Amino acid sequence: MIEETVRKLIESARAARESAYAPYSRFSVGAALMADDGDVYQGSNVENLSFGLTVCAERVALFSAVAAGKRDFTGLALVTDTPEPVTPCGACRQVLHEFAPDLWVVSANLRGQHKLFTLRELLPYSFDTDLSK
Ligand SMILES: [Zn+2]
Repeated sequence: MIEETVRKLIESARAARESAYAPYSRFSVGAALMADDGDVYQGSNVENLSFGLTVCAERVALFSAVAAGKRDFTGLALVTDTPEPVTPCGACRQVLHEFAPDLWVVSANLRGQHKLFTLRELLPYSFDTDLSK
């Protein structure tokens, strides 16, 4: 994956983070998901007073892209204000796997650090019934 693409996605995720709705945790997260045609979809976390209804930035980005008709994705960037970059939660990993098991994931923080992973690294034993068999 091209370094320029990584930088572009990190910048998009950083901008998306500004729209986070996180009045309870004050933990703002931004995500940017690239479709196979190069289009980028942003997401930020959206919390709710009923905490279990909160949706992570990664899933907001994915659902926005799916609602726009996209089904195949190549990369995702995630930006947080943490000492070290953080990776997507387990729920997001599984939901991303549904559409893009070969996705690459770049986790970045506001300090300019980033780490690159593959989704298969992050979710080695995904739930996958392979109903096509
Ligand atoms: Zn998540």
